[in-house]
Amino acid sequence: MTDFTATRALFHLPAGVTYLDGNSLGPLPIAAQERARQVVTDEWGEMLIRGWNAAGWMAAPGRIGDRVARLIGAPAGSVVMGDTLSIKVYQALASALAMRPDRRVVLSDSGNFPTDLYIAQGLLASLGPDYRLKVVAPEAVTDAIDESVAATLLTEVDYRTGRRHDMPALTATAHDVGAMTIWDLAHSAGAVPVDVRSGRADFAVGCTYKYLNGGPGAPAFIYVAPEHHDVALPALSGWMGHAAPFAFDLDYSPGRGIERMRVGTPPVIALAVLDAALDAWEGVAMPDVRARSIELSEAFIAGVEATCPGVELASPRDPQARGSQVGFRHPQAYAVMQALIADGVIGDFRAPDILRFGFAPLYNDMADVDRAVTVLADILETERWDRPEHRARQAVT
Ligand SMILES: *Cc1c(COP(=O)(O)O)cnc(C)c1O
Repeated sequence: MTDFTATRALFHLPAGVTYLDGNSLGPLPIAAQERARQVVTDEWGEMLIRGWNAAGWMAAPGRIGDRVARLIGAPAGSVVMGDTLSIKVYQALASALAMRPDRRVVLSDSGNFPTDLYIAQGLLASLGPDYRLKVVAPEAVTDAIDESVAATLLTEVDYRTGRRHDMPALTATAHDVGAMTIWDLAHSAGAVPVDVRSGRADFAVGCTYKYLNGGPGAPAFIYVAPEHHDVALPALSGWMGHAAPFAFDLDYSPGRGIERMRVGTPPVIALAVLDAALDAWEGVAMPDVRARSIELSEAFIAGVEATCPGVELASPRDPQARGSQVGFRHPQAYAVMQALIADGVIGDFRAPDILRFGFAPLYNDMADVDRAVTVLADILETERWDRPEHRARQAVT
């Protein structure tokens, strides 16, 4: 049994704050502070350029990729770190399309995170006028998978509502018609048990600043199924993905296996912080995380529905159909969330009307649930959200 009291103690959780926004930015793992000091002072400061070899900087994207691999059911040597998730979506989609040269349709859904759709739009525009991004409702994805589809580009857990796609079933449907599959695991990695291998995903991508607590802008990951390692090309053919970066050859030649998905110089400081953050997952069993996530989110839904007027559940009621976050609709969701944050209960707002709360079992507990419910009920009861300072929109919501 995973000891969640012990994992909670690994995080810096500011006094007076109930943090239910780890689905957007995970909190600071205490070990990351010392690791950041060490990489800056001892490694960069003292080793200078020798750090690339002596401190293992050059190997970090693959070594840390193996640590993330364990959390998504991927074999060692099939995940590499680097860049942002948007970039990794581009690479995965471009690779998949190149593997289906006779097809022109990319299928996604309207619950996808906009950057995934924007990246697809940009990529397809550069490939030519025949390419098309088809966006259907999440429930309509299965029926829309046909032989015109080159690749599906889907996010397993909806960023607003937490609705979860059936990854193995959709992947099987796509494979039946010869389509490739790209799964975005932004709200899955560290939130729900993921098994890209038994789910037979062709590509998977995700970020590490959400449930993996790697810090703002932490590097993303990309998984390529081992059977595609020799055929998938990285699209962004940078020197770090070259077979021999330090041969300084004038022509590109793809590196071995997953290494070819590297692009440029790795973000060493960010990788070191992420590495420390991943220590929190040692000894943690994902089925335990899942069980506790369901326990916390079910208690939250029950508490809110029993005591909070004017809100409506936006997430699936069946916990098996959700990831690890819960959304409630309220016509004044933005102002309500600002009032919650002012009282130290941090969730977030997603346009147009969703109050979103993430439950991260590594550090959230039942006391967090109780406090969030109590404060939300009070804000709605007293209509304290209805103040100019809560209505004023900020740049980042
Ligand atoms: C958070 C998130 C992103 C963010 O992409 P970045 O390039 O890291 O800014 C992309 N896709 C999904 C599905 C997300 O949830």
